[in-house]
Parts: sequence; structure tokens; C-alpha cells
Amino acid sequence: MTEDARHFKTELAIIGSGIAGFAASIFALNRQLDCAQIGNTGAVAYTTGYLDLLGKTEDNEGAFKNTHDNPWDGLKQLRTTHANHPLSQIPQADIEEGFKQFTAFLGECGIAYTSPGVNNITALTPVGTLKKTLCLPATMAAGPKAFAAKKKCVIIDFKGLKGFSGRQVVANLIDQWPALSTQRVSFPEMLSGEIYPEVMARALEVPATRVKLAELLKTAAGEAKIIGLPAVLGMHSPDTVRTELERLAGLEIFEIPTMPPSVPGIRLREMFEQVFPQKGVTLIPQQKVTSLTFNDQGAQLSLADNYGPITIDTQAVILATGRFLSGGLEAHIEGIEEPLLGLPVTQPADRTSWYHEKYTGPTGHAIHKTGIEVDSSFRPLASDGTPFDERLFAAGIILAHQDWIRGRSGAGIAIATAYKAVEAVEKFLRA
Ligand SMILES: Cc1cc2nc3c(=O)[nH]c(=O)nc-3n(C[C@H](O)[C@H](O)[C@H](O)COP(=O)(O)OP(=O)(O)OC[C@H]3O[C@@H](n4cnc5c(N)ncnc54)[C@H](O)[C@@H]3O)c2cc1C
Repeated sequence: MTEDARHFKTELAIIGSGIAGFAASIFALNRQLDCAQIGNTGAVAYTTGYLDLLGKTEDNEGAFKNTHDNPWDGLKQLRTTHANHPLSQIPQADIEEGFKQFTAFLGECGIAYTSPGVNNITALTPVGTLKKTLCLPATMAAGPKAFAAKKKCVIIDFKGLKGFSGRQVVANLIDQWPALSTQRVSFPEMLSGEIYPEVMARALEVPATRVKLAELLKTAAGEAKIIGLPAVLGMHSPDTVRTELERLAGLEIFEIPTMPPSVPGIRLREMFEQVFPQKGVTLIPQQKVTSLTFNDQGAQLSLADNYGPITIDTQAVILATGRFLSGGLEAHIEGIEEPLLGLPVTQPADRTSWYHEKYTGPTGHAIHKTGIEVDSSFRPLASDGTPFDERLFAAGIILAHQDWIRGRSGAGIAIATAYKAVEAVEKFLRA
């Protein structure tokens, strides 16, 4: 095969295909910016599908013990205690607008989400514990409602499916939800051996599989009118699959996230990969940008895929490359580095202070607050404290001063900072 050098020109190049990168493309489309997105496979396939804004903040000892029913009140508190947290830099109206545009886009493209409200939703985790989140896929929305009303409900799990146990969910919730029980069924046509959520989800896109499963669910539900299932209700049209199963089984049905890799994350990734090119985004999925340089005309990105080298000339860049899991930051013996541009990384003074002695300690680990610094326009800073380049912007969890895991704020940081970065890019390009 001969290799063809391909060359693209765009106004904005977004590096990263996590929630921050995808959100940045949505906001760029909404602002009629010409954009390209390049992203290697990343953490989005692991996400539960929940869009957290802020579930917890730190108390005076630095322990994440303040739980927030109202994330907007939590943000007010965060602004006074942690002024350098990325969410503290963003007005509430912009965070709300970012969530509204993001969830509206998902709904228009076939994956309905609940709208951001005043209060957090108390949602179920894969193991039957509870967490606070702001928005969830419509396929999961009936679960928290059934929990709040303590309705009679059966959690269904499947023979051969690892990583989701109805018994575990019930054991963890039974004190708060006495009318909860569990039943195990065999997934149609997958009667022996290990079975996988992704394969089950694709099988449920086929109407005949839904008919067979509905019969099994009817029997398993007994007298309950509502059942919870692991998140396997279709890959490309989950809302249709759920509605159809509900109709066939005569039950209300909700999904519960599974352990990663998870269908709700893969759904998002596959949906974006399908719709972005149709909407005019130059999308180069599953690839890594190997070099990014700035010159008099703008910036140039280099990468390669199976067909050969690609260069992208652009007037602005958003770096949304995540942290360690996605390769946006790298941990070395000498310290933590940002590998693409060598941006300075705010980090603990030495390696021995990366982790707290107690792994599950409530204060978390200092390494989880490492990241790059940005100015008020979300431009990464060089070591002298000035913008690294006026054409470079950043978004997502690569930003310093936040522990999104303990703060329950992964998607919130990604969406809100992407909203602000794209806003700043538009201002820069149209100045
Ligand atoms: C197990 C797990 C569960 C989660 N559950 C939740 C949840 O319940 N609720 C919630 O709100 N959030 C959750 N998250 C967090 C969420 O999925 C995102 O990780 C988070 O929102 C941060 O998004 P991000 O886009 O900044 O970074 P990431 O998601 O890490 O994405 C970074 C992207 O950059 C790409 N990249 C890196 N370097 C390059 C390069 N050189 N060239 C091209 N691409 C590159 C990576 O491949 C990746 O696609 C979960 C994450 C994990 C891992």
C-alpha cells in the first residue's frame, strides 16, 4: 500500500477525545467554528455515563467529607475555600449553559439525558453504593426515583456476566431500600461461558433478542413493577431499546452502570464518531498527535494513521489530553511531565509526597491535584507565568488544583472548562 500525505486546514484543532474534547467540539459547532478533533482512545469508555458536577468538597482537614445535595451551593463554597480550582474560575451561568448545550446535543443525536437541575441526583453505582451526580442518561433515570420512593424493585443480573452482581447491589442497599431483591437470568442465546456487556448491548439492538429477554424479565420481576438491569440496553439507540423492552415486558426498567469498560461510555464515543463528521467536524479518531508546533501562520499538528502521515494547520488549539490514564500527563522518576509540549506541571515537591500513606484515606493523594496552570482565558502558562502561546488553550482534567475523583466532578470540570476554552478561542479568532 502506498502512503498518502494528507493535509487539513482548520480554525480550531482539539486534541483529545474524552468528555472535554467532545464537549469542545460541540461548543465549537454551536459557535460555527471550523474545527478538527484528534483523539486517542481514552477514559470515556470507562465512564459510568453519569455527568457529575460537584458531589463533594474538602473539610478543614482536607478530607472530602462535605457532600452536596445542591452542587451550586457547593461551588459557592469552593470559590471561597479553593479559589484556584478550575470550577471556581467559572461563573455559574456558564457552567449551566455548558451542561445544557452538552446534554441537548446528546439528546438530539439519540442519547437522551436528564437536564441539569438545581439539585444533585442520588444515583446508584455498579456495586450498589450511592453517589451524587447532576445529569444521567434517560435509560438510568427511573432508578434514583424508585430508590427515593423505596418502590418494590428487582435487580436483574445475568449468568456469566462478571463485574455486576445483583446480590452485591442488594446487600449494599437493603438497609435503605427494604423492598429490593434480585434475580439472575440467562441472556438469550448466551447461555454458557462468560458474557460481555458490549456484546449484550449490540444483541439487544435486534428486536428478536428483546422479545426473548422481555419474557425472561416478566417472570423474574414477580410482583414488582420496576426492575433494574446492568447497562446493556443497546449501543446506538438505548432509549428505543428501553422503551421497547418496557412495552414487551409490561415493566418500568432502568439501567445501572457496570464496571469499566462500560456501555454508556462506548455509546457516547460511537455516537460522536458517527455524528461529528456529518456535522462538519474533521474527526481523526483513535490516533495520537505526535507533535505540535507554533509558527508565524498558526499551529501545526502532526500524526499518522494506517494510510500515512497527516498534518493539520490551525489558528488555535485546545489541549484536552487528560491525565495519566489517557497520556496527557506522564509520571517519571524525576517528576510529572506534560509530554506533548513540555508544559510546566504543578506537582508535589518530590516523589515521596505523591501518595498519602493510607491509600483509601479521605484526603486523597497530592498527585491527584497535579496538572497545568492556565490564565483566565484558559491559556496554559509557561514557566515565566505568561501564556505559552496565545493560540493555545486547555480544558478538562489536565488542569491543576482539582481532584475530580474525590470531588465527584469529572464531567463537570471537562464540560465547564471546555465551554470557557471555546468561548476564549472564538474571542481570539474573531478579534
Ligand atoms: C473508571 C472511570 C469512571 C468514571 N466515572 C465518571 C462518572 O461517573 N461521572 C463523571 O462525571 N465522570 C466520570 N469519569 C471521568 C470522565 O470519564 C473523564 O475522564 C473526565 O470527565 C475527564 O475528561 P477529559 O476529557 O479531561 O480527559 P480524558 O477523559 O482522560 O480524555 C483525554 C483524551 O485525550 C487523548 N489524548 C491524550 N494524549 C493525546 C495525544 N497526544 N493525541 C491525541 N489524543 C490524546 C486520550 O486518548 C483521551 O481520549 C470516570 C472516569 C473513569 C476513568
